Amino acid sequence: MFPINLGIVGVGKIVRDQHLPSIAKSAEFNLVATASRQGTVEGVPAYKTIEEMLDAVPSLQAVSLCMPPQYRYDAAHKALSAGKHVFLEKPPGATLSEVADLEATAAAKSVSLFASWHSRYAPAVEPARAFLASTSIKSVEVIWKEDVRHWHPNQAWIWQAGGLGVFDPGINALSIVTHILPRAAFITSATLEFPENCDAPIAAELHFKDANDLSVHAVFDWRQTGKQTWDIIAETEAGTMILSEGGAKLSINGELKFSEPEQEYASLYSRFAQVIAAGRSDVDLAPLRHVADAFLLGKRKVVAAFFD
Ligand code: NAP
Repeated sequence: MFPINLGIVGVGKIVRDQHLPSIAKSAEFNLVATASRQGTVEGVPAYKTIEEMLDAVPSLQAVSLCMPPQYRYDAAHKALSAGKHVFLEKPPGATLSEVADLEATAAAKSVSLFASWHSRYAPAVEPARAFLASTSIKSVEVIWKEDVRHWHPNQAWIWQAGGLGVFDPGINALSIVTHILPRAAFITSATLEFPENCDAPIAAELHFKDANDLSVHAVFDWRQTGKQTWDIIAETEAGTMILSEGGAKLSINGELKFSEPEQEYASLYSRFAQVIAAGRSDVDLAPLRHVADAFLLGKRKVVAAFFD
């Protein structure tokens, strides 16, 4: 069954940074085509749209959809309907309902849908999960603060409705939190800060609790210059756990317990191959549900206009 003939749609930043190097090393996927209005990959047949690619390359078995989330559903629906397995970049869509529809379409067509959460494959995430399972958690603090001008220069879609704003990186934190906590938590209050000229927030503060009244507090901010922070700190009966650098490092009571080079996208493609081989889908909507809840429940604060 391997290698699987793969097409990529939306050749942009994340494709160049992560997908192409990981696919090049993968024994399970062979990149045979791209569909992108402007982006191309040297040596790989290029089409402008997914329709053209599907028509021209009948041997295609799977597609990775890497365009902004607002434009992903139509491409995903076309690919699944054509009998192709689909890898969705994060967040898996612009709404919960459209992703549920894709899941049903994948089941009806007997193909696999994979909603990827790359941060869950950061190297210290599984050790953090194991540590938290071994103790009792008193509180959790999530701090995700970065400089949007550095990480997302001139990405207009991110400020438009459905682009998620600061939840674009924040959902990475939520994908880790939903994976490492022993019980599901839910938002009890939130404040979202919208620049007066944008339809998506630049900062957010979220309070969660779970059935045992565990307090989880998260602060996401895109106005951070200087040191960037992607930390999850848990106070536990066994001491303080700090999962830092977006899940790359784990320390407990100040002692570094785990630090390894990241291989997030290599792991994502291995997982996609596993899901296809098993004949099933992997679609966990918990991180996107929290973002939707923040928009449902959050107070809206208008702040200074943002210019790139
Ligand atoms: P990007 O470079 O701005 O967009 C990717 C490509 O999508 C663009 O090059 C463009 O290709 C296509 N595209 C843009 N607007 C479109 C539209 N209106 N309709 C159809 N296609 C459009 O974005 P990115 O940073 O790669 O992010 C893409 C996705 O990956 C997002 O969901 C993001 O959250 C996720 N992601 C990004 C990162 C990161 O570090 N950047 C990390 C992990 C995940 P053409 O113009 O050639 O069609």
